[in-house]
Amino acid sequence: MPGRFEVHALSAGRNVSLLAEQIREFHPALVSVAQQPAADKLKRLLGGATKTQIEVGDTGLRLVATAGEPDVVVAATVGVAALEAVYAAVQSGARIALANKETLVAAGHLIRAAAQLSGAVILPVDSEHNAIHQCLRAGTPREVRRLILTASGGPFRGWSARQLLSVTPEAALKHPTWSMGQRITIDSATLMNKGFEVIEACHLFGLPQERVDVVVHPQSLVHSLVEFVDGSVLAQLGPADMQFPIQYALTYPQRSPNQRAPLDLAAAGQLTFEAPDLANFPCLRLAREALQAGGAAGAVLNAADEVAVEAFCSGQIPFTAIPAVVEEVLQQSGTLPAGKMEEIIDADQNARQQARAVLSKVPA
Ligand code: MG
Repeated sequence: MPGRFEVHALSAGRNVSLLAEQIREFHPALVSVAQQPAADKLKRLLGGATKTQIEVGDTGLRLVATAGEPDVVVAATVGVAALEAVYAAVQSGARIALANKETLVAAGHLIRAAAQLSGAVILPVDSEHNAIHQCLRAGTPREVRRLILTASGGPFRGWSARQLLSVTPEAALKHPTWSMGQRITIDSATLMNKGFEVIEACHLFGLPQERVDVVVHPQSLVHSLVEFVDGSVLAQLGPADMQFPIQYALTYPQRSPNQRAPLDLAAAGQLTFEAPDLANFPCLRLAREALQAGGAAGAVLNAADEVAVEAFCSGQIPFTAIPAVVEEVLQQSGTLPAGKMEEIIDADQNARQQARAVLSKVPA
């Protein structure tokens, strides 16, 4: 949609060759990269032939999220790296197209409070929440009975506890329906991603977790559903292609035509649904417990999970130890204050240390 949008600022981690291409195509006023060596490399790649300002680190990310009073900020950074930048963008009152669920998992109540003060509208890019956002347009908040998040079930759906013991990182990185980054793909395999999404839904839509259910739907074509008080249920369907929710968040409240391949229900054949296996995939329960515990428990949940996922990917711990490590860290942390962003960042850092200590005791 080149006629419709102008790219004011971009951020990247280390992939400076792609960023250099994007700078040549979109001529943003400002870009930011994770660290100074990446900025130096980017400058070399551009060869001085650019007016784009190059910034670095947390400060750079915050500038990208707020400078030039953007109409829309697309927050798609993985993990809690963008926590403060997203918070600043919400405080500025911009529309946020939010793909970064960790922000809401770790600091949902702060983000919500800031959005209420500034008037910032948060539009979910996460496919499930994007679906719910679309379905909610059919009724008023009082008419909603519950939200139903769909889950693909991941590559190990139906596996026994014994089978799960032998899961390798390579197998866990093969998601059946979506193509995504490493962390979220492993989180999908453990169902922690769905746990995060329950927390995300509660914060986005202001509902208690008892009114957010999860159903496994392996085809990933029904992206989520809303049940209204009269028992009517609305679902949103579409191809498993993130460009659809991204476009919705960018063009809302309008809809624009596109050239993407449409949903072919006859080709899909069957849509099936089943209950999640909470015994073999305890992460969903852990996420609900963290939400119930309140305070900084969401930040602890996310941080411990990130460390455990890295340890699994590097072969340090078995797949089934991921929830065990997270549960141990959650128990050790107890209830932590989360009235300020600094407290959440402290909780995140401490949980990482605790998780590393717990990891060192896990038999490989
Ligand atoms: Mg999702």
